Amino acid sequence: METAVRQMVHELGNAVLQAWLEAQDEPYPADTQPCACGEVANYVRKRRGMTLTLHGRVYYRRAYYVCPHCGGGHYPLDARLGITPGQMSAAVVKLAALVGVQDAFGTSSDLLAQTTLLDLSPNSIRKACQQVGKR
Ligand SMILES: [Zn+2]
Repeated sequence: METAVRQMVHELGNAVLQAWLEAQDEPYPADTQPCACGEVANYVRKRRGMTLTLHGRVYYRRAYYVCPHCGGGHYPLDARLGITPGQMSAAVVKLAALVGVQDAFGTSSDLLAQTTLLDLSPNSIRKACQQVGKR
């Protein structure tokens, strides 16, 4: 029964994170945003993003801007929250690195899946160890 409840809490956490992330974005995005190049980026539309969190892969929609001057694309929400789209969250990197330094990356992957329901490849754990090691 604990396993079933844990799975439900994992899925609930995922849904709550998605709703929370989307609530952090502007409900009516501004037409423009300042670009890092010094020019002005224009609102394009809401785009879907993914971040790998302690509650699994969370998909969310947020405002997307493109700068006509430098061609750069921006997600103000991601920048504000420190999210690198498509990558592990800071909390996942920290945990994966902690597990990764205890044991081989392959068995760390199993340990992480058993304890947190997080399905990370040995490669992701190696990457997290290197990221934290660099810091
Ligand atoms: Zn620009």
